[in-house]
Amino acid sequence: MHIEAITASDIAWQEQALCAQTGVDFFFPEPGSSVREAKRICALCESRTACLEFALAHDERFGVWGGLSEKERMRLRRSEENGWDRPVR
Ligand code: SF4
Repeated sequence: MHIEAITASDIAWQEQALCAQTGVDFFFPEPGSSVREAKRICALCESRTACLEFALAHDERFGVWGGLSEKERMRLRRSEENGWDRPVR
């Protein structure tokens, strides 16, 4: 079993997370539901970059993290594995 240590500094960005104020329902919608509202909130969030980095580092498979859906994160991960640069946001 692999147990990963997450330090306080790893999750300090969560203190500014807008989703903590709005609730998580927008960010983990039912399959096939829109993630537009979650992305709108993420676009305003100061923690967006740290949130996305955390999701990628911890292989978060579900929900919207850092303004990207599961499929978008998967595409980003694959493009990075292929040596393509991450787009500047
Ligand atoms: S970027 Fe989106 S999912 Fe991440 S902390 Fe901010 S509001 Fe939450």
